[in-house]
Amino acid sequence: MISFWERKTFTAYDFIIIGSGIVGLSTAASLKEKYPTATVLVLERGIWPTGASTKNAGFACIGSPTELLDDLSKMTEAEMLNLVEQRYKGLLKLRQRLGDENIDYQALGSYEMLGEKELHCLEHIDRLNTLLEPLLGGKAFSVNYDKIVEFGFNQDVVKALVINHFEGQIDTGKMMQALLHYVQALGVSIINGTKVLEFDETIQEGAQVVMRYEYMSGYLCLRAKHLFICTNAFTSQLLPDIDIKPGRGQVLVTKPIDNLRFKGIFHFDEGYYYFRNFGNRVIFGGGRNLDFKGEETFSLGGNYKIVETLDKKLAKIILPQTPYKLEMEWSGIMGFGENKIPLLERISDKISLGAKLGGMGVAIGSYLGEALAAQAPNPKTVFMNKFS
Ligand SMILES: Cc1cc2nc3c(=O)[nH]c(=O)nc-3n(C[C@H](O)[C@H](O)[C@H](O)COP(=O)(O)OP(=O)(O)OC[C@H]3O[C@@H](n4cnc5c(N)ncnc54)[C@H](O)[C@@H]3O)c2cc1C
Repeated sequence: MISFWERKTFTAYDFIIIGSGIVGLSTAASLKEKYPTATVLVLERGIWPTGASTKNAGFACIGSPTELLDDLSKMTEAEMLNLVEQRYKGLLKLRQRLGDENIDYQALGSYEMLGEKELHCLEHIDRLNTLLEPLLGGKAFSVNYDKIVEFGFNQDVVKALVINHFEGQIDTGKMMQALLHYVQALGVSIINGTKVLEFDETIQEGAQVVMRYEYMSGYLCLRAKHLFICTNAFTSQLLPDIDIKPGRGQVLVTKPIDNLRFKGIFHFDEGYYYFRNFGNRVIFGGGRNLDFKGEETFSLGGNYKIVETLDKKLAKIILPQTPYKLEMEWSGIMGFGENKIPLLERISDKISLGAKLGGMGVAIGSYLGEALAAQAPNPKTVFMNKFS
């Protein structure tokens, strides 16, 4: 049983957000920026965010040439540009909200490595630059060959580098910590270690979420005037009909390397592989295409076959002349669907959903949070009995 005091103080809010990844926390930040006196609660199943936002590689990306060309083959020009715009604006929002120093934002260079098979995409660089220039105010891409040798990459594999002049890298841990501090300073409450089991919007006032509470013999219900579902890959556990599948990503990091020859963020093989420097270490991830079925999982485990391939590619393509040792590996879970456009939906007058960010969340997450908060009703205009 809960006490009179607990019921009066802790069970009803203006807004409840499920999920404390970058989208959930950005939604909380935007809600408090818009409605400073609103009560906002974030519920998170992990002791810290436990999906993708604390597991990613920290690329602040708006799109590489092969990615954008692939987008253009699957969506209209306007949809592709809209997605780039959302990523660009989201990244600006993240940097402006938290400050470059606090997230360790560095524009050290961003490169797509092209092999023989992908060189044809160079023919489209001018077209992409022309399409993106009105949005970015400058040319996004230029081609470079000299740096292949300078960076020490395998020249038999890497035939050209395309530089993106509007991308950078962050320290993922620092960014998420800064975002947590930011929302807590605004007065947002966060409860960790709480998995929401279901929600119910048919109650008379507001919507309620249901959780198990081990110190009580049953379940605990919390109510809000508006509920936000920001559970990305895990959304189908709450909304079974949703078009979102989990996609695990494997990452490894080396020990510090003497005289590491490159800095910046890099992609290759249509973005299926990505690596960067972190100081004088290399962080290298990807390879989901080697085992799509095996990586369609909610489990934060390893995949030996993929990690072994990453290690081989690191030795052969990225550090062919440099000895290195691996320090550790990890994985995180992304959310994917039929197409790569994130889901931003007001699924009823009491519930909004923001999910399916694929591999774009660092840049687009803040944008999505702001768009979700814009769907919230002014809490002063919605009545809900708060057990006074
Ligand atoms: C290995 C890897 C590398 C990546 N690299 C990059 C990159 O370099 N650049 C980039 O832009 N993106 C990258 N991404 C993608 C990016 O991390 C995601 O797009 C972004 O973090 C998604 O944020 P989110 O808030 O939507 O989801 P999440 O961070 O997954 O947050 C969802 C949260 O909801 C919680 N939750 C789920 N169900 C419940 C429930 N029932 N009750 C309570 N809480 C619940 C989860 O624990 C989780 O914390 C990468 C992802 C991975 C896995």
